[in-house]
This record gives sequence, C-alpha cells and structure tokens, in this order.
Amino acid sequence: MGINTHMFKAWLVSNSGDQYTAALTELDESQLPIGDVTIRIANSALNYKDALALTGKAPVVRRFPMVPGVDLAGIVEQSSSAKFNPGDKVILNGWEIGEVHWGGLSEVARVKSEWLIKLPAPLTLSQAMAIGTAGYTAMLAIMALESFGLTPERGEVLLTGASGGVGGFAVNLLAKLGYDVVASTGRVQESAYLKSLGAKEVIDRAQFSGPGKALGKERWAGAIDSVGSHTLANVCATLKRGAAVASCGMAQGIDFPATVAPFIIRGVTLIGIDSVLCPMTERLIAWDRLVHTLDINKISEITHSRPLSEAMSTAEEILAGKIRGRVVLDVLY
Ligand code: NDP
Repeated sequence: MGINTHMFKAWLVSNSGDQYTAALTELDESQLPIGDVTIRIANSALNYKDALALTGKAPVVRRFPMVPGVDLAGIVEQSSSAKFNPGDKVILNGWEIGEVHWGGLSEVARVKSEWLIKLPAPLTLSQAMAIGTAGYTAMLAIMALESFGLTPERGEVLLTGASGGVGGFAVNLLAKLGYDVVASTGRVQESAYLKSLGAKEVIDRAQFSGPGKALGKERWAGAIDSVGSHTLANVCATLKRGAAVASCGMAQGIDFPATVAPFIIRGVTLIGIDSVLCPMTERLIAWDRLVHTLDINKISEITHSRPLSEAMSTAEEILAGKIRGRVVLDVLY
C-alpha cells in the first residue's frame, strides 16, 4: 500500500475540557514533533497502558493532542543521526512516547535517535512488537530479581496477572531459565495455555485479590507482580524470609494496602520496575537476553495481530480482560 509522502494516519487523542476523544486521523508530516530520526512504522503493539491512553480511563497522556502507543518498530526513512541510516530496522519502547512524545499508533513517527535500538537479530519487526514493552519489562523484572540473588534452587516463583502480556513472557522466560513457576490468574480455564508456556502450577487469583493478613504462610522465593493493590500486599505477606517481589504493574489498582510486617519481620524486599526511562545499557542487555532465552516459536501463540484501525475496539477488549497475551498492530502492509 503506498502512502502519500506528506500525509499519514495516526490515532490522535484530544482532551478539550470535559471531552476526551480518540480518532484515527489524517495528519501532515509537518505536524510531527521534533526529533532527528523519522520512521515508517511497520508494527506497533497495544499494551494495557495504551488501552488506558486511548480510552482516557487513566491519566496516561500528559500532553495533548497525543498519538498514543508506547512501542513501535519500523524502518528509518530520514536521519540526521550518525548512528542510524535510512533503511535501518529499529525498535523503540517507552521513553515516554505515547505519553509526552507522539508514539507508535501511527504510520510515521519522529523520535530522538538515543531512544532507538537496532532490531535485534533474528527477530522480525512484528516479533519484536509481539515481545514489546511487555516482554522487555518481564526481562527487566527477572534481571532485578537475579541481581537481588534469586536462583532456581531457592524455590517457587509467583507470577500474578499471568495471562497478560508481562505475565505470559515472565512465565515463559522464568521456565526457560529453570525456575519453578506458579502462575496466578483470574482465568483458570487458561491453565493449559499457561502450562504450555512453562508454568508448573496454576492458581486462582482470588486468593490474592481481597484484603489479607499482615503475614501469611511463607511460600515464594520470588515474585513478579503486574497487578498491584491487595494482590501485591498479599504477595509480600507470603514471600519467604529475605525474598523479593518485583512490582511492575497495577492491573488491579494503583493502591498498595499493605502493612510493613513482611518488611520488618521477614526482611522481604519490594523492587520497583520502570521500563519507560530505563537506561540504554540495561535495555540492550534485556533485549539480548530476550532473544537468547525466549522460545521464539511460542511468541506467535501469545500474539494476536490486528490492523491499526482496530486499536480502539481492541483497547476496550484489553480493559475488559478479554485478550490473552499480546496484541501486535499491523501498520505497514
Ligand atoms: P495485560 O492487560 O496484558 O495483563 C494484565 C493482567 O492482569 C490481565 O491479563 C489479568 O491477568 C490481570 N488483571 C486484570 N485485571 C485484574 C484485576 N482487577 N485484578 C487482578 N488481576 C487483574 O497488561 P500488561 O501485561 O501489558 O501490563 C500489566 C501491568 O503492568 C499494567 O498495569 C501495565 O500498565 C504495567 N506495565 C508496567 C510497566 C513498567 O515499566 N513498570 C511496563 C509494562 C506494563 P489474569 O487474567 O491472568 O488474572
């Protein structure tokens, strides 16, 4: 499909007082923000955060009008950076695109070269977006737990929100690294899927989602939580003495109704994961490890491909918890 050299389509979010709107809009390249690299986007992804940005259900967007989308993959069209040349295949995750700087739900993006990573071989642009922020965040969480001292010998590792994007990658990566993975999900009917990704056991998230005790029976050698709220509080309360949980999400809620008991009585640690402004050196390590650890064939099993035009309807499905795994948006056909 040929695209006019000056006009392109993008999802544009506006907020005029009381009214929050998002529409697939025809824009002129002269409207693109400042940046030294212009990219023809081939694929983007639809993350939970992008669903919030598109629908306005949470204040993800901090500058209007905004093109949402925290992930993009494409081909460099113009570059005044010595590091990138026209024709290079590149990916971008985070750096506040889709929040403060125009992001990936678009046919064209103009960004800063220091945010870009050359497409890691042997991935295709579409596979890189299937991994996207979800897979990269899962790897950052694993790296944080490893730096803390987690090893497979220490015992079971709990994953919450396991049927989601971050959760699915974390299950697969940890299993490939030799860990005993316990997957917590609201969709226990997805047990076979989670076990195929590498979970040893699947448990109902209901046991974590309500108010719990300050301390529970010690079970987890480590945990990765993408849910927050009571779930994170209950995970902290059931970590083994001296263990750590990596907190990376808030699908249940941004609150943290916990007590300090697990921290001061069992010496547990809460590690925060921020993929957005993570330094480039860590990103490159994370992507290298993703490529070498992930079962690339499994990626297609956890990925749905949708056209860019279906971003809004897909966002509603994500927020309603109807999507299992990742959504890749096909932009360039
Ligand atoms: P998904 O929507 O793909 O997955 C979220 C999962 O959380 C769902 O699949 C569901 O899993 C579970 N969940 C949803 N609602 C609830 C609820 N009310 N109570 C308990 N569990 C719930 O999102 P992502 O995996 O892309 O992202 C997960 C979280 O991580 C989001 O909050 C996102 O904003 C955050 N995030 C943070 C990053 C960072 O840099 N820190 C980077 C990437 C994501 P199940 O059905 O299995 O229970």
